[in-house]
Amino acid sequence: MLRSVLAFSAVASLSLALASRLQQQSHSATSPQNSQPGAPTKTSELHALASLEPIDTHTHVAKGDASFYAMLDRLHMHILDILLVDDHDSYRRAMEPQLEDALRVVRESHGHAALCTSFDPFQFGQADFPASAIRGLDRDFAEGAVAVKIWKNIGMELKDRDGHYVLPDNPALGPIFKDIEKHNRMLIAHVAEPDEAWQAPNPNGLDYSYYKENPTWYMYRKLGAPNKHQLLEARDHLLAQNPKLRVVGAHLGSMEDDLDALAMHLDAYPNFAVDTAARVVHLVVQPSDKVRGFLLKYQDRILYGTDLEFLKDTAPQDAVKEWETQYAMDWRYFATKDVFEYSGHKVEGLGLPQAVLRKLYHANAVHWIPGIYSK
Ligand SMILES: [Zn+2]
Repeated sequence: MLRSVLAFSAVASLSLALASRLQQQSHSATSPQNSQPGAPTKTSELHALASLEPIDTHTHVAKGDASFYAMLDRLHMHILDILLVDDHDSYRRAMEPQLEDALRVVRESHGHAALCTSFDPFQFGQADFPASAIRGLDRDFAEGAVAVKIWKNIGMELKDRDGHYVLPDNPALGPIFKDIEKHNRMLIAHVAEPDEAWQAPNPNGLDYSYYKENPTWYMYRKLGAPNKHQLLEARDHLLAQNPKLRVVGAHLGSMEDDLDALAMHLDAYPNFAVDTAARVVHLVVQPSDKVRGFLLKYQDRILYGTDLEFLKDTAPQDAVKEWETQYAMDWRYFATKDVFEYSGHKVEGLGLPQAVLRKLYHANAVHWIPGIYSK
């Protein structure tokens, strides 16, 4: 979570224009919110998307609602609902309340949502860590969790007793990764951040306002903090030490600005794949030919994900509108050759072949995250 703060404002401005365009193209409204003025309706994009039985492998859903489930149904959308412990967020501070909510969403969604659980990294250093974390994971696996998330606070925030940053390859975490592998689950690893987090402030940067609002994750000149290279090296180490553990690097593996480096990592670690969550905006600013070539070459290693959220205090109709707008916009980028504006950036759609779209939106998720898709 969540770079979308940024994407939000851009999406918001775009969503008005898109919503009116969508309305013009509207087919018969099938749910109440579609009859509201300005609400997004089924579009050609969303119809085409739905035909692939799409899977969004990166979402954060804290509550359910009939209209939200109806949208998932309409789009044939399956989602991975990801938990994480964030000590800066009153809701995400502990596992229990969010776990309870997510299990309810999984139950109520009738097969549309699957659970990606997590553990509390701030228990690191307690006498019963990692045994207590493993107990929690095994309980969640028994409840149907298909994946486990580690978040950027491992590497960028969490410190050991001596005040040193704890990196993702810390030996104390090793037994947790072995447990995930033993249960044939997948690890989603959000390690590091875009390069900008280590660079001098640049008001033109894609993520400038995010780091301004979230200084915890702004690492430029942060005393004693690891640099990006050290973090990615620690993740490499994790990948090498657990060759049978399937690892999906969230957010294009934090190599969103250097597809050559990402390609080298995918070549070096067959157990590594990445999701697109909240990073399509980093792709649209790169040359279309290059991005297209990358996606074609690594068509078995990239999972569609958004980082969309449905928070406790979000009105369901706003969430539905935002999700459908994002899905339509991403589809337009990956599947069509339209020239259009994506979050304020003029872009030409990649027009990926149908077979590649099917992998990106469906087959890769099924392969990398067994159990995520049930009809
Ligand atoms: Zn996320």
